[in-house]
Amino acid sequence: MDYFDLNLNLSSEDIALREAASKFAREVMRPVSVKLDKMTPDEAYAAESPFWDFMRKAYELGYHKLPYPEDFGGPGLTPLQIQIVMEELAWGSFGLTLALNTSLDAAVAMGGTEDHIKEFTIPYCKCTDGGYIGCWAITEPDHGSDTLAVGYPCFRDPSIGAQCRARRDGNDYVINGQKSAWVSNGPLANHILLMCQIDSSMGHAGGGIFIFNADLPGISKGKPVDKVGARDLCQGEVFFDNVRVSKDYLIVAPDNYEAALEAHLCITLPMVGTWANGLARAAFDEALTYARERVQGGKRLIEHSSVQNKLFDMFRKLEASRQICRAAFVYNWSFPTNPEKRLIEYAMAAKTFGTQTALEVTSDAIQILGGNGITKEYAVEKFFRDARTTLICDGSNDTISVVGGNKVARTYPRRL
Ligand SMILES: Cc1cc2nc3c(=O)[nH]c(=O)nc-3n(C[C@H](O)[C@H](O)[C@H](O)COP(=O)(O)OP(=O)(O)OC[C@H]3O[C@@H](n4cnc5c(N)ncnc54)[C@H](O)[C@@H]3O)c2cc1C
Repeated sequence: MDYFDLNLNLSSEDIALREAASKFAREVMRPVSVKLDKMTPDEAYAAESPFWDFMRKAYELGYHKLPYPEDFGGPGLTPLQIQIVMEELAWGSFGLTLALNTSLDAAVAMGGTEDHIKEFTIPYCKCTDGGYIGCWAITEPDHGSDTLAVGYPCFRDPSIGAQCRARRDGNDYVINGQKSAWVSNGPLANHILLMCQIDSSMGHAGGGIFIFNADLPGISKGKPVDKVGARDLCQGEVFFDNVRVSKDYLIVAPDNYEAALEAHLCITLPMVGTWANGLARAAFDEALTYARERVQGGKRLIEHSSVQNKLFDMFRKLEASRQICRAAFVYNWSFPTNPEKRLIEYAMAAKTFGTQTALEVTSDAIQILGGNGITKEYAVEKFFRDARTTLICDGSNDTISVVGGNKVARTYPRRL
């Protein structure tokens, strides 16, 4: 459904990008997403699954490399264009948009060398058949929130251990341990951006970031996890058993780790919020269409003022959420390497607000559809389940609020 955009300065290129993404989301992503949602995880990612057809089409059109500059083979979009296209894709599917975008952006933002870019980023950008897939592995079975709590006291607490550690051995690092069952694309990935502990005296802040191929001896993967929502996103563990990686594949060492992770979260958190906006809009559209057709009490639902109120409530939350997610993403994207200017609290506000909005809007959409809303005949029950996962993705909203609240309490009023 066509959606108004408050931004007065959209160029004809911005609008063309949005329309192309909207068509792809409607014609390709949504139908595949609905099919995958009904399959078991084993079926959903088997060789004959429509997932692979989707990946081929998405890669062919370059939707896997939206944030990359032209020098690396990306489209060189502006931050606003990235945000606009991502929201459209997530209208088609939150899970598939995440699957396409959980890759190597960090290798660039976090100081990957020219060699890393040549070895990983450029082949990824050149890939047109969906076969080059990345994952970002940071959380562990016993350390989920802890691993993401940058700037919070527990992040630097040396008594809090880690389950995945890298030890220096000559010119190599030897990695042992495991990452959680939630690693997006984990079971499918052929390259890994790994964040794991190197210097335990610094707690989780003593981590490092590696990038390497996922076929190294000693790496194994879990099975795709069965979940309530985002079932079209393959998630699973990654195990490391004496995996030997050259020191050349360490892109961030412990001294810079916390700052690099913060830089990463400044970008990814508002992006998760943006994807949640796309998902919420999908539910809003379904509710609006249904309310225009269904007749109760002698008139269409849309003519009942309480339904209008509910739709308006959905609309205003959605608009507010979209604006903060867009502003936080565009702002933080503009200063990825300048810690003075980065504003993680806005990224955290955007993620928590965007995802909470998605939960509320998808729930309201179910209410408008009444009994039909909870059946598999209509898409809103899937949107609601997908929305539920967004409150945990990239850090649980509860924990993000604790860490964000601590930051605001310590540093505000803040002037740049
Ligand atoms: C859709 C999705 C995609 C994901 N993708 C990835 C990925 O690509 N890579 C990856 O590594 N991980 C990924 N994750 C994992 C995700 O980041 C973690 O699930 C999340 O950080 C929470 O960790 P946890 O599940 O271990 O919960 P826990 O850390 O055990 O937290 C459970 C609850 O305890 C409370 N809590 C925890 N710590 C605190 C605290 N310090 N203060 C107050 N309350 C607290 C909160 O209420 C929290 O919700 C993904 C998760 C989802 C749902």
